[in-house]
Amino acid sequence: MTDESPSTAGRDFIRDIVAEDLASGRAKGVVTRFPPEPNGYLHLGHAKSICLNFGIAEEFGGRCHLRFDDTNPTKEEQEYIDAIERDVRWLGFDWGEHLHFASDYFEQLYAWAQHLIRAGKAYVDDQTQEEIRLTRGTLTEPGQNSPFRDRSVEENLDLFGRMRAGEFPNGARVLRAKIDMTSGNINLRDPVLYRILHAHHPRTGDAWKIYPSYDFAHGQSDAIEHITHSICTLEFEDHRPLYDWCLENLPVPSRPHQYEFARLNVTYTLLSKRVLTELVRGGHVSGWDDPRMPTLAGLQRRGIPAEALREFVKRIGVAKANSTVDLGMFDFVVREVLNKTAPRRMAVLNPLKVVIENYPEGQSETLEAVNHPDDPSQGTRQIPFGRELYIERDDFMEDPPKKFFRMAPGREVRLRYGYFITCREVIKNAAGEVVELRCTYDPATKGGNAPDGRKVKATIHWVSAADAVPAEVRLYNLLFTTPQPEAANFAAQINPQSLETVTGMLEPALASDNFDGAFQFERQGYFVRDKDSAPGKPVFNRTVGLRDSYAKAAG
Ligand code: ATP
Ligand code: MG
Repeated sequence: MTDESPSTAGRDFIRDIVAEDLASGRAKGVVTRFPPEPNGYLHLGHAKSICLNFGIAEEFGGRCHLRFDDTNPTKEEQEYIDAIERDVRWLGFDWGEHLHFASDYFEQLYAWAQHLIRAGKAYVDDQTQEEIRLTRGTLTEPGQNSPFRDRSVEENLDLFGRMRAGEFPNGARVLRAKIDMTSGNINLRDPVLYRILHAHHPRTGDAWKIYPSYDFAHGQSDAIEHITHSICTLEFEDHRPLYDWCLENLPVPSRPHQYEFARLNVTYTLLSKRVLTELVRGGHVSGWDDPRMPTLAGLQRRGIPAEALREFVKRIGVAKANSTVDLGMFDFVVREVLNKTAPRRMAVLNPLKVVIENYPEGQSETLEAVNHPDDPSQGTRQIPFGRELYIERDDFMEDPPKKFFRMAPGREVRLRYGYFITCREVIKNAAGEVVELRCTYDPATKGGNAPDGRKVKATIHWVSAADAVPAEVRLYNLLFTTPQPEAANFAAQINPQSLETVTGMLEPALASDNFDGAFQFERQGYFVRDKDSAPGKPVFNRTVGLRDSYAKAAG
C-alpha cells in the first residue's frame, strides 16, 4: 500500500473492537483475512471487505491473509484464483507470504471431523438431501432427529473413511454435527460438515471425494492461521454460534472471533457473483471485465482508479445495518479523484464541420494547451490548428433559446486555447440537416483574448479536421434500468442502451500518448484507452461524465 493511500479510515465499530482487544490484551496482535470463494470475479462489494480487512491490519500493525475458500470444486476455477489475486493487488493491497487456501487444510479438517466423531459429536447420515431438508423443521417448529443419529463411533468412523475413499456416489451420505435438532438457530440443527463430491479440484485434483462445508472449513482455517478477527458480512451472523461450537469442540491452535458488518449495496447495481456469472454466461456483457460490470476488473477497464475505490469505501464507512449507497456518490468520488490528476485533452464526439473562411488554405499552426489547469507540473502540449475544424454538434443551435450561449448564426465564441470565431453561414444537406458552418476567425485573439477587451459568452472545444484521429468511443450508461434491480429477474431489467458507440475525433496527442490512466476530454468527462485499441485504431471508454446524469436517467 502506498503512502498517499486514503485507506486509513476513521473509526467504526469493528476498529473499536480491535482497539479494545489490543488494549485489554485479549489479542496480542491483529491478524485478519480476506476469504473469497474463487467462483467468480471480485466486485465492488468485495472492495469494501478487502479495504476493511487489509486496512485494519495496516492501521494496527498486523497482517492480512488472502485465503481462498476453495471448498466447492464444482464452481471454482483457476481463472478466478488468478483474477482475484490480480484485483486485490490492483486495489493496492499485499498479503506478503500469506496466500492460503482452505484446501491446504483438508487433511487437518478431516482429522478434526474424526475427532468430533470420536467425541460422539458427529455422525454419518444416510438420508437424502431432501429428507434432511424436510426434517430440519422451520423457524417455528423444531426439527426431527435422523434415524442414523445414534450410530456407534466405530460405524461412523468406518463410513466416513469409506466416504473419503470414494466408495459411495454423490449425495449418498453426509457427515453431520450432532448438536441439537430443536435449537432455535437452524444452523445448529445437526449441520452438514462433509458431503460426497466426485469432482476435480483446481488444487487437490482428484485426491478428495468429500469436501467440507463452508461452516466446517471457515472457522478452523481461521484458527490454523491464528486469525484474531474474522470479519464477514451480516448474513453470517446466524452462523456464528456454529463457528463458535466448532472451535470450542476441537483442539484448535488458536481462538478467533467472528464479527459481522453490513454488505455494500449500490443503486442500479447487482453485487452478487451469481448474477454477474449469469451476465457473462448469458452474453449480456462481453466478459467479466466488461466496463459496465461492477467487477473490479470491469471498473479498472472503465478507467476507475484504485484510489477512487479506496476513497469511496472509506466514505461509506462500516456499519451494522444493511443499506444501499447511491451510485451517484460513487461517481462523485471517481470524478473528484480524476479531476485532481487526469490530463486534459480535446475530443469531439459528435462532430460538426467548421470552415474558417479567412484562414488561408494549406496553412496550419500549433497552439499551446495546458495539460492540467491546477497542476503546472503536467506541462503543456502543442495542438494543431487549421482552416477546417470539428466542433461538437451540440455546441451549435441555428435558432438558440435565450440561455444558449454557444455557437449560433452571427455569434462569436472562443475556441479553447485558440481564437474567437464567428459563425457566418450555415450549410445544410438536402434533408435540411446542418452539415457545415462557415466561420471567420479574428487573428488578434490568439490565446483566447481580444486586445480590444470584447467578451464572448462561451468557450467550446474543437479539433483540427486535418489532424484529428478518428476513434471508437464507447459510452456506458446504467446497466440496469431500475434503482433496485431484483436479482431473481435481472435479465428483464437490463438497459438496452447500456452501451452506445460513437466515432469521435481526437486531438492527435491522444493517439500517440502511452499514458494508460483516464484523461479528461474537456467538457465531456473522463475517458480511458481500451485494451481493444490497435495501432492507428484507438478505442476509448467513457469512465464517467462530468456531471451526475442518474437523476435524469432514472426519471
Ligand atoms: P456473492 O454474494 O457476490 O456471491 P460472496 O459473499 O459469496 O459474494 P465471497 O467470495 O464468499 O463472496 O466473499 C468474500 C468476502 O467478501 C466475504 O467475507 C464476504 O462477506 C465479502 N463480501 C461479499 N460481498 C460483499 C458486499 N456486497 N459487501 C461487503 N462485503 C462483501
Ligand atoms: Mg460466499
